[in-house]
This record gives sequence, C-alpha cells and structure tokens, in this order.
Amino acid sequence: MNRVFIGVGSNIEPRNHYLERAIHQLKQHEEITVIAKSSIYETAPVGFTEQEDFLNMVIELETALKSIDLLRYCQQIEMEQGRKRTIKNGPRTLDLDILLYNEDIVMSPQLTIPHPRLHERAFVLVPFNEIAPDVFVPKLERTITQLLKELSTTEVEQVVKWKGK
Ligand code: AMP
Repeated sequence: MNRVFIGVGSNIEPRNHYLERAIHQLKQHEEITVIAKSSIYETAPVGFTEQEDFLNMVIELETALKSIDLLRYCQQIEMEQGRKRTIKNGPRTLDLDILLYNEDIVMSPQLTIPHPRLHERAFVLVPFNEIAPDVFVPKLERTITQLLKELSTTEVEQVVKWKGK
C-alpha cells in the first residue's frame, strides 16, 4: 500500500464545503483510504493577491493507485467541483496537490513529486506538520518539521487555524 499526502485548498465560498466534498469523494474510491486529516487553516493568497483568503488542509491517504492514476482521480474531483483555470494562481473552488507519494521521486510532464513548491509554502507545511511532522521528504532530504523551521516566522504566523463561520 502507498502512503500519500495531499494538499487541499479553496478560496471560493463555501470554501469549507469544497474541502469536505473533496474528502468525501476521495473516500468514495474503493482503492483510497483516508488515514488522517489536519485542521483547516486560513491563509492570505500567494502570487495573485487580489482575491479572497484560502482555506487549506493536508490529508494522509493509503492507496493502491499509482501516482499518475491518483492525479487523474484528483483532477476529476477538481473538475466535478467546477474548477475553472482562468488566472494562474487565481481563485479556485478546489485545488488538490499530491505532495508526497511514499518516498518516491517523480519527474514527468504531468507530475512532479515531491510537489515542487512544498518547501516554500507555509500553508502546506503548517497543516502537514500537524499530522506528520517526522515524514521524510526525498530530494530535499529533510523532515516536514525541518522544512517548516526554514520558513520565516512571519510566513508561518500568517497561517492560522480557521475559526469557522
Ligand atoms: P495547478 O493549476 O497549480 O493545480 O496545477 C495543475 C497541473 O500541475 C496539472 O497539469 C498537473 O499535471 C501538474 N502537476 C505536477 N505535479 C503535480 C502534483 N504533485 N500534484 C498535482 N498536480 C501536479
């Protein structure tokens, strides 16, 4: 069985509803088991900043699916939830990123694992650190906690637990 971590994000209301539906749809797949989920965090947007704040979380899965088939399933979930890819890094109903797949290193046109921006993003590392601090990230050769410590305090402090509506 493969151990996988997925980052989930949304910044179009109802944001938490999109996150919950994504988890539900992952659970619907007979070859996917959801093992753990982080709290939901709220974060200001990175890149294109004229948009609403994001909700982000990280989910741990076990799956028999190959990484490319898991990517296709995640893209199917994104499409079903009406994601429109208009502006790069712009608003989205749902974004699913494969962060880690065992300790595999994948570099294909469709898929890069570990996710190429994993180590730069407090909104990924903070929830990841909540559920799996000691997981080892190949290529970067560090644990999640070590990567988180390399980010600035300001960035980390901007990722706060979502208080709900
Ligand atoms: P984005 O619009 O940021 O969600 O990027 C989607 C594109 O990233 C898709 O075309 C994927 O093929 C590609 N991609 C590369 N690596 C990954 C990954 N680890 N997880 C999800 N998508 C990925």
